[in-house]
This record gives sequence, structure tokens and C-alpha cells, in this order.
Amino acid sequence: MRLDYLTIFPEYFDVLEISLLGKAITQGLVEVHAHDLRRWTHDRHRTVDDTPCGGGAGMVMKPDPWGEAFDELLGTAPDPSIHVVVPTPSGVPFVQAEAEDLSGVERIVFCCGRYEGIDRRVIDYAAARWTVHELSLGDYVLNGGEVAALAVTEAVVRLVPGVIGNPESLAEESYSMGEEGLLEYPVYTRPVSWRGLDVPDVLMSGHHGRIARWRHDESVALTRLRRPDLLGPEE
Ligand code: SAM
Repeated sequence: MRLDYLTIFPEYFDVLEISLLGKAITQGLVEVHAHDLRRWTHDRHRTVDDTPCGGGAGMVMKPDPWGEAFDELLGTAPDPSIHVVVPTPSGVPFVQAEAEDLSGVERIVFCCGRYEGIDRRVIDYAAARWTVHELSLGDYVLNGGEVAALAVTEAVVRLVPGVIGNPESLAEESYSMGEEGLLEYPVYTRPVSWRGLDVPDVLMSGHHGRIARWRHDESVALTRLRRPDLLGPEE
């Protein structure tokens, strides 16, 4: 998998060298390239923004540097196997199912907006050639798309085969559990007693059936409490 980031802050992506993602890069499972969008500017100030058409506060990212960056990185020919992720608070909520889909693709280009966002024509131009995903990290506004791109990257890359040593650990996680994608049950490790708080007896019973039932019940209870929207009618 090859990941490209178009951003005015390429340093944000230095953290990709840390932890599991770093290991995935070292192992050759993932290749990452962070590009400074200002490389495709031609004026003395390396300008990437301009005032909004129609007036109003703030600045908008100009289309020209994006177009030239696309030309250099992707060419101009249509190719739906290339995925372009545009983080934006007006995008569809980014969920685990989308991370699973993206973990199977060969090429993702992240377009990180700043200011009031990117000129709409950049996204329309990309959508006419490649597969565009406008994704929101949540119902709040960040200063830029870099943190969102990193979050999407981490959720996607950990699902790439070979990145996580034991793939079974991916099946029993929040949003992957059961058919409904329940939240994960609480987890514990040793010591069995810590500061007056004990691990639930059932987990130390060695009885696999009872443990599985307890975990399922805890998942359902937690999901009902925090994310009732995830539950099917029978739960
Ligand atoms: N004017 C935009 C709006 O109201 O929808 C917000 C622009 S925001 C200050 C600048 C950039 O941050 C966006 O272009 C996007 O890349 C990123 N961003 C902000 N909030 C985000 C979110 N919830 N999810 C994904 N990206 C976000």
C-alpha cells in the first residue's frame, strides 16, 4: 500500500515512523510520502490560499497547487483504483467499515485542508478521475486535515494483513464484534486484586462458555448505554 499526504505541514507525518506504523513501513508493507503543497506554488510567498469568492471571513485553499500536485503524483488519466481521502467536517462520518474497505486498496492520497477548506473544484476534479472519500472524524472542527489523515491512516494500516501480529485480535474489537459491531467488553490483566479492585471472578474461572457469555453481555450493556444506535432490534 502506498500513502501520499498533500499538506502545508509535512512535518505532521513524521510520527508515522513510530510504533506499529513505523514497523509496517520498515517491513515494506506500507510506503508513505508526505508532500509540501507549497512545492507546487510559483510566487515569492509560496501562496496556497486566497479570499473566498462571494466574500466572508477566512481564506480558501487555491486550486492551482492542488492541480499541479495531482498532475505530478497521479497524472490526469482516470483510475478508480486510486483513492483520494479528503478529511472535512462536512464529510460522511469515518467508521470502521470504511477503514476495512480502505485497508484493501493499493494507493491512497490524503488531501489535508487548512483555513476554510479547499476550493470545491479540486474535489470535483479528483472525483471525476479517482475514487474520492470525503470523511469526517467527528462532529467538531479541527484546524486542519493532518490529524484526521493520521487517524484514518492508523485505523486503516493496522488492518493491512501482516501489520498486527495476531489477526485474531482484530476480530474482537469495538465496531467489529458480532454482526452489529458492538463496543468491546471491559478488559483486565494481572494482578487479580489491585488497590482493592478485583478482576471479575468469571474471567478467572477458566470456563470458556461463561467467559464468552459474560463478555457478550458486557458488550451489549455498554453499547446500549453509550451507542444505542449500533444495536439491532433484538438486543
Ligand atoms: N470551514 C470548514 C467547515 O466549516 O466545514 C472547516 C475548515 S477547518 C478549519 C480546516 C480543515 O480542517 C478542513 O478543510 C479539514 O481538512 C480539516 N477538518 C476540520 N475538522 C475536521 C473533521 N471533523 N474531520 C475531518 N477533517 C476536519
